[in-house]
Amino acid sequence: MIPSDRAAPQARNVNRPGEGAFRPFAGQRIAVVGLGRAGLPAAERLAGWGAELTAWDDGAAQRAAAERVGLAVRDLSQGAFRFDALLLSPGIPHLLPRPHPVAARARAAGVPILADVEFLFRAVRAAGSAARFIGITGTNGKSTTTALIHHLLHGAGRVSEVGGNLGPAALGLNILGSEGTYTLEMSSYMLERIATIRFNSAVMLNISPDHLDRHGSMAGYAAAKANIFARQLPEDLGVLGQDDDLSIAMAPAINSSLVPISGRRRVAGGIWAEGTVLRDEAGEIADLRAAPALPGSHNAQNAAAAAAVALQAGLTRAEIAAGLASFPGLPHRQERVGTLGGVVFVNDSKATNADSAARALASYDRVVWIAGGEAKAGGIESLAPFFPRIARAVLIGRDAPMLAATLAAHGVPHEVAGTLDQAVPAAAAAARGGAADVVLLSPACASFDQFSGFDARGDRFRVLVQSLMTDDLGRAA
Ligand code: ADP
Repeated sequence: MIPSDRAAPQARNVNRPGEGAFRPFAGQRIAVVGLGRAGLPAAERLAGWGAELTAWDDGAAQRAAAERVGLAVRDLSQGAFRFDALLLSPGIPHLLPRPHPVAARARAAGVPILADVEFLFRAVRAAGSAARFIGITGTNGKSTTTALIHHLLHGAGRVSEVGGNLGPAALGLNILGSEGTYTLEMSSYMLERIATIRFNSAVMLNISPDHLDRHGSMAGYAAAKANIFARQLPEDLGVLGQDDDLSIAMAPAINSSLVPISGRRRVAGGIWAEGTVLRDEAGEIADLRAAPALPGSHNAQNAAAAAAVALQAGLTRAEIAAGLASFPGLPHRQERVGTLGGVVFVNDSKATNADSAARALASYDRVVWIAGGEAKAGGIESLAPFFPRIARAVLIGRDAPMLAATLAAHGVPHEVAGTLDQAVPAAAAAARGGAADVVLLSPACASFDQFSGFDARGDRFRVLVQSLMTDDLGRAA
């Protein structure tokens, strides 16, 4: 969840379902498939905005919930398929690895498959509002950068609504007037399903292998990400990471005014970090040592991107420096959840691939590392340069044996604990025995084999660390 400084009080909330006469989708036949936490309220809102709405979910409980709120529910894999648009939940594939049957029908019928942000954009413009749209994408750092941009804007007194891939979903946001800004995290899945939205500021941080089952190849994945720059005009801002080759290669196709950014080297005409100092050609913007929630060169990249957007929005350098310093950070991203006997426990559950685990491993000299779950393509071989920092690895989840094999080949001490409940006490014992003064949960794997998501995994870690601390107090008493 986003920090609690949302700007809702200033928003014009004139258009909740059933309120007012705002009906931007009147007469449009919209199908909604996927009635989960975001999908059901989205369907209700579109219906409230006048759409002729038909809803479907493969789960009976979700269908029942939709019927309870009065939505028309129908099996869209049967019967006629006559719609103007299909809103498909981001988690449901329309192409790879296998299209959902309704998505396949939509494609065959030439019906556009859209993400909820596309409907938000259309509604905002239909309301006559020129509110600005900021879109943020990249393999890693999206949520941090999105929350940070919102924090900077909000701190400078701007009206900003934040959401998208990091809750609340786009169709849960208020309609803002022309003075407002939407700061939206855009996943590659969402970027495949936009059609008219134009981002006034678009940020593309970095690209590394992820979600290849859905995008088919790195080229397909990069093409989805590059869509963040689609339809931009020269007066818009394009912020492009310069810390990997695939991102750099996007530059020629970008039509907006381009600001290159880097977390580790000078980029002419851009914003970059030199040591801990964030700067541009005009000089220092901020010293990141004063920004405790933004450790490491990866966060310097996020800070550079946020500063580029903020400068274009007219914030002063002092406002940006103050906002970076006061940023509270997000849970599950190198979040310190406790200290026990001099050992710090760090929850980096959000590191669902090797690349983001590398950022966390690079931040500590010596760790007891808890990792595992559903590994991504390539496993953890790419983390070999960090193996000397690992005093001991404690492995969990489905692919623990595969991770163990890689660690064994490199002579890294490790054990397979199986579950997080077993791993936390084992890791704590190793650390307190003198192995290291940090226990780092940075799994380099997806969590779905054992948890409902990375947040549930991180929450469980926090609970387990807290119970260790309570036990310890009990023993000391
Ligand atoms: P996303 O929303 O893209 O998944 P987050 O901001 O939630 O990214 O960060 C997830 C993890 O990715 C962090 O815990 C950190 O380890 C790593 N990370 C964050 N920013 C970057 C970056 N700019 N480059 C590489 N890795 C990063």
